[in-house]
Amino acid sequence: MDKKFVISLIGAPASGKGYIASSLIKRLKEYYGFTDADITSISVGAMIRQEIKEKTPLGVKLAANMKEGGLAPDSMVNEMLSDTLEKIKSKVLILDGYPRTVGQVKEFDKLVVKYNSAVIFRDTPVDLILERVKNRRICEKCGMAHEASDGVCSCGGRLIKRKDDEVLPERLAEYEEMTKPAVIELKNEGNNFFWYEGTAEGEDIAREFLKANEKYLK
Ligand SMILES: [Zn+2]
Repeated sequence: MDKKFVISLIGAPASGKGYIASSLIKRLKEYYGFTDADITSISVGAMIRQEIKEKTPLGVKLAANMKEGGLAPDSMVNEMLSDTLEKIKSKVLILDGYPRTVGQVKEFDKLVVKYNSAVIFRDTPVDLILERVKNRRICEKCGMAHEASDGVCSCGGRLIKRKDDEVLPERLAEYEEMTKPAVIELKNEGNNFFWYEGTAEGEDIAREFLKANEKYLK
């Protein structure tokens, strides 16, 4: 590979982006012979939280801008990502949850101009997501995931809603307002864009997508 391959994964919160990412990694390793070191999966949200936690110069700036619970400013996120993409030595970079605003889309082209890139979008209806997580609980004690809203864990712990799920309606509303227009923009701009139904399986997406982008994996 003469250039890194940057895969951007976008979709609604709780729409299973993590599952698509792990399906991509599995297939890259088993079918295309990549190693762990060849692939890096980057959660942009986790990166922002890390910067803030470590109080880096950027983290301090981000925290000040996000005080009101808003999104991190586009220019700062892009600055952070630009450095990261450059620094990481892996051949395949999976960006989870980026770009997610129209402002970030405008910077996205500049960000990936040095690399080969593609966008995966899974279009999951909001109703379906709410239905899926309705009965999802975790054990308060051991953290084990459960597909039931009542009862107790095998360890005796109480089943509670995940913190993320509690604020899911708000996050979905933000997604509809901020990210949906960004997706349309990305598609219209003529990016290497792949659209999948909300019901598409992670493994199927990984297989089809990587086959269509095989030239970037050689
Ligand atoms: Zn438990």
